[in-house]
Amino acid sequence: MTEPSTSPSARKVYLETYGCQMNIADSQTVRAVLRRAGYDATADPAEADVILLNTCAIREHAEERVIGRLSDLARLKQARPEVQLGLLGCMAQHNRAALIERAPWLDLIAGPDAYRRLPELLGRGGFEPTVDVRLDRGETYGDIAPEYEKSVRAYVTAMRGCDRFCSFCVVPYVRGRERSVPPADILREVRTLAAAGVREIVLLGQTVNAYRFDRTDFAALLRMVAAVEGVERIRFTSPHPCDMSERLIAAMAEEPRIQPYLHLPVQSGSNRVLAAMERGYTREQYLDLVERLRAAIPEIALSTDIIVGFHGEEEQDFAATLELMRTVAYDAAFTFKYSRREHTRAFRLGDSVSEAEKGRRLAEVIKLQEEMGLARNRALIGREFPVLIEGPARRGEAMLAGKTPQFKTAVFPGRAGATPGATVTVRVESASSHSLSGVIA
Ligand code: SF4
Repeated sequence: MTEPSTSPSARKVYLETYGCQMNIADSQTVRAVLRRAGYDATADPAEADVILLNTCAIREHAEERVIGRLSDLARLKQARPEVQLGLLGCMAQHNRAALIERAPWLDLIAGPDAYRRLPELLGRGGFEPTVDVRLDRGETYGDIAPEYEKSVRAYVTAMRGCDRFCSFCVVPYVRGRERSVPPADILREVRTLAAAGVREIVLLGQTVNAYRFDRTDFAALLRMVAAVEGVERIRFTSPHPCDMSERLIAAMAEEPRIQPYLHLPVQSGSNRVLAAMERGYTREQYLDLVERLRAAIPEIALSTDIIVGFHGEEEQDFAATLELMRTVAYDAAFTFKYSRREHTRAFRLGDSVSEAEKGRRLAEVIKLQEEMGLARNRALIGREFPVLIEGPARRGEAMLAGKTPQFKTAVFPGRAGATPGATVTVRVESASSHSLSGVIA
């Protein structure tokens, strides 16, 4: 948990995070590394001695945002030249040469495997930026207890990197190869979090279900985490369809603390596109997996990632994606226009679908998902769910919000004893495509 600042003379670090849940978890590790080295955290960049941006390289648009933000922050450095400005994470790894050119005021560029060395790298100084983008097949940061934000839910990194090399994705190049955190380190973390009042643990990894440490596979790890006293709910993200073993499905079906929700990225419904993406499964294999999951865990909710406009995606391929969405009837979908990334295998293939056409296809998948999400949520009206309260709802102070086991947001009027971290039974009275509304039963 985050401790208040104790030393008035300590150097202050301001850290801003972009991108996925893995990056948020990495920032918790960075905070812990720097605190051990005597730095204090600050929420105000104007009073920081060190300003760090932990970045994402998945989409071009995210990179442009970071460059814009860097130029803003560079003004603080003009006023106080001793301020150190650093870029961490996937973008640092992906684009170091271009970054030095576009952001000459950077003092530090550090990739995702360099965080342990940050105090030393920041200590070097000098005219040229310090660059450390070595990938390290052994680095898991398992021995460093991250600095978690106070919350009912905590994200715990179980594995890092990815060996899948989907043709469109930069992750294996920027985060390196798969490595799993030793189970003992994960369990120590989970016990500490449970003792501090965290109710829900989300195990993280780029392909989290590829987890393996000696003889412990992901199914075994989940069962170990489920046995920790005080943990009420366990989730994980993101699994790869090819690594959804029968042992894992059985663990989900048998362990009541493992929640009935799975984010199962499909990316496309067309076998031709799936092959070009090098995803490792066919549409039929994916649909068979969905059937097995629903047979074993009837209450399971499913969400997915979909990319439209991949190179070579024809109208009939796109139609196959829409049809797969209708067949599965996802509870939620994260949808993206294909964004060609340098260094990936698909980069060399080209980008055959125009921006306008990508936009049209994206609008169509979003519309379909809105309709199906609404239908699925409306079907829950009248039913009751245990909801883990997270805090006040955005729509008003008197309303509370939390998640059902299926990871659906439920909003309801508060009452005595209904505080963050408590679980209450909520009866659903109405629904939108993204949330449920109800009352405590
Ligand atoms: S599984 Fe594919 S999409 Fe996911 S991180 Fe690995 S390479 Fe990227």
